[in-house]
Amino acid sequence: MLSNSLAELDRRHLVHPVSSFRGHEARGVRLLQSARGAVVTDAEGRDLIDGFAGLWCVNAGYGHESVVEAAAAQMRQLPYATGYFDLGAEAPIRLAAELAERAPGDLDHVYFCLGGSDAVDSTIRFIRYYWHSRGKPQRDLFISVGQGYHGSASGGAGLTALPAFHEGFGLPYDWQHKISSHYIYRNPVGQDPQAIIDASLAELRAKLAEIGEDRVAAFYVEPIQGSGGVLVPPPGWIKAMRDLCAEHEVLFVADEVITGFGRTGPLFACEDEGIVPDLMTVAKGLTSGYVPMGAVFMRNHVYETIAEGAGAKAVGHGFTYSAHPVSAAVALEVLALYEGGLFENGRRMGARLMAGLAELRDHPLVGDVRGRGMLAAVELVTDKRNKTPLPAALDPANRLFDRAWEQGLIVRSFAQGILGYAPPLCCTADEIDAIVERSRKVLDLTL
Ligand code: PLP
Repeated sequence: MLSNSLAELDRRHLVHPVSSFRGHEARGVRLLQSARGAVVTDAEGRDLIDGFAGLWCVNAGYGHESVVEAAAAQMRQLPYATGYFDLGAEAPIRLAAELAERAPGDLDHVYFCLGGSDAVDSTIRFIRYYWHSRGKPQRDLFISVGQGYHGSASGGAGLTALPAFHEGFGLPYDWQHKISSHYIYRNPVGQDPQAIIDASLAELRAKLAEIGEDRVAAFYVEPIQGSGGVLVPPPGWIKAMRDLCAEHEVLFVADEVITGFGRTGPLFACEDEGIVPDLMTVAKGLTSGYVPMGAVFMRNHVYETIAEGAGAKAVGHGFTYSAHPVSAAVALEVLALYEGGLFENGRRMGARLMAGLAELRDHPLVGDVRGRGMLAAVELVTDKRNKTPLPAALDPANRLFDRAWEQGLIVRSFAQGILGYAPPLCCTADEIDAIVERSRKVLDLTL
């Protein structure tokens, strides 16, 4: 009964993120009640394996008492401290230092915010300040990649290349440009890695020539595109794009909001590519979703240029909750858990997940299986040779999601008939195997 009245209150009052308002009113809410490890329990007491770690964020898994303790201790001692007026608290300072020590190259300066969207919007503002400080304010154009997702705050929503984040809003994004995704499975130049890299390089060069390279402020990539359908670039793609940006003095931003914190194996996915971006954004796994927090990393040259440009003036960017001490205390404890064994477990379970999902390739509906570590996708087609997507009619009703739910599994169902996986790094081998087995059942039921 409790859940019925809550469902009614939800329908009447709670606006859900990225959802069809009318569709949600019709379907109603699925209440989640509690969670432990990689398993969530709904209001009816049914256990489900969370194969998507909430929203690819609960990397450490649910129910870590030490994280709860860290938050409670910080709340008792000092629940809030601003970073304005030269004030500060211990936890965010320690966290910034720990992260800078582990980040690639000289990404030594960390600005904390509340999540991924405001991290991306913060980079846009810092980058504009940087170019003003360098005496090149005309570098005011931004380039990102098709199928990309960079949040839904007002700047980053434009960098996001998914139609739902543009249609109906009519916001002016004439200062933003896109090049095509590397999407290997459906790339018009075929699946040869070098051909895809060459095509992307040619497209970025053409874009720089078209809009004027001395107008371009920055280029944004996700090391693996998440919300676009878990699209893994060919090996060497990121490095090639990074090098081209360096050649043209275009700042290179790696958006590691999903890929950071062990999701693909290392702490940051950039490490796999051997590159150092000029700026890097993180969120999600930073606090494992226990409390909100995001961050922007800046290389020394970015920080120093902004500092020099501002001189004695304040750089007018910051939030009341920048560097929140409770979030920082949680992030420090989560980092200790990761390094105390969760990263290691995630690497082993990631290999098991990829091997298990690869076995689904023999299923008549499976066109592609891709991913790295604990970040994966299975793309469904009705005809493997022609790569015919599942009928669009399948998704509005969220049928794939529903079928997985009925099997006791939470996965992401992307609009194009793609199942997305991002399980917590704490998963056991049995849980990984169950994710794969239940996925096969979902496919059989979809035939
Ligand atoms: N950037 C990327 C790559 C993301 O995947 C997301 C969210 O999924 C964001 C930014 C936005 O983060 P948030 O939802 O925390 O605002």
